[in-house]
Amino acid sequence: MAFTVGILGGGQLARMLALAGAPLGLRFLVMDSVADACAGQVAPLLQADYRDQAALEEFAARVDVATFDFENVPAASAEWLAARVPVYPNPRALAVSQDRLEEKNLFRKLGLATPDFAVVDSLQDLERAVADIGLPAILKTRRLGYDGKGQFRLREAGDVEAAWAELGGVALILERFVAFERELSVLGVRSSTGQFASYPLVENWHASGILSASLAPAAVSAGLAEAALEAARTLAAALDYVGVFALELFLVEGRLMANEMAPRVHNSGHWTIEGADTSQFENHLRAVLGAPLGSTAPRGKSAMLNWVGHLPARDVALGEPAAHWHDYGKSPRAGRKVGHLTLCADSETLLAEALLRTGAALDRADQVASVIAVLGTTH
Ligand code: AMP
Repeated sequence: MAFTVGILGGGQLARMLALAGAPLGLRFLVMDSVADACAGQVAPLLQADYRDQAALEEFAARVDVATFDFENVPAASAEWLAARVPVYPNPRALAVSQDRLEEKNLFRKLGLATPDFAVVDSLQDLERAVADIGLPAILKTRRLGYDGKGQFRLREAGDVEAAWAELGGVALILERFVAFERELSVLGVRSSTGQFASYPLVENWHASGILSASLAPAAVSAGLAEAALEAARTLAAALDYVGVFALELFLVEGRLMANEMAPRVHNSGHWTIEGADTSQFENHLRAVLGAPLGSTAPRGKSAMLNWVGHLPARDVALGEPAAHWHDYGKSPRAGRKVGHLTLCADSETLLAEALLRTGAALDRADQVASVIAVLGTTH
């Protein structure tokens, strides 16, 4: 009998998981609340709300194991499922990463530095937190924030009222705004057998709070890469984590600080499809199956460019020999991730040249400029 992996959430991550799982002989069932979820183009889709009991029952009956493309699945639904089928990552890991406060408390407990933070449940809390932590600072919703949503940057004391007016009423935390030199992420993968591996550290650039470009491996010292790997290993073990996860880090005065974790395959790991021996998607599935993990070694240097809002001209991009095109099959919408492109090359010089050509051909010179600027520099 074919083995079926159930995925809660039917976006591009589920789509790329299903595409990676086909050669392993896996079948998929994707559950999403919207009828045109893009993973539904490549795998059977069960359209239902994650709280719909009858749909959860059907899902549990049709799958052998369940995983996520989306971390904000209600914890109660994840727990209900976990009582019936193996669910990876486990609901506790999911719950921790759904709440910025729990997540940061865990980072601290494990010895991972974080920006200073304070709990904010009232305007008085906010005033006190600003006095304690100082400005600039960022007020964030503890739950349901992504791609910079649910955040307010406070620059001066006069911003307190506006920040409260915008976000007050739900559980919040205030974080010190750190003047980071770089944004980095490390992807770890831990199998249900306990085997652990991590991909090389990646450098990320954001535009309007959304990932715009990634470079892998990041041009950082071996010491930093090792520290990130150790942080990922510690976190995975503490959560008894199974599957791929991303730990987002800031580099501040030469030191790593943990920002947040994503309990799933991650946008900053899309380069692994062509740029690593085994993609993050395949390794996530191997981890969930308890199969041996594949090599996470990079194949040369890779850069990933996200297509946000709409796709550039495909056939122009395909004219670039180093390019790998990914169209998620979504309709265009402002701020929506609709695809990405990965450029792979044997050296940093060749990668910089490919980025320059692609930026010019697709009219994306701005998007490639920051990546090109760090290529050839070692820190
Ligand atoms: P997050 O949703 O926490 O990943 O935040 C989105 C983006 O806001 C991050 O990728 C950073 O660029 C920026 N950011 C978040 N928290 C901080 C912070 N404490 N200091 C500086 N920048 C931050």
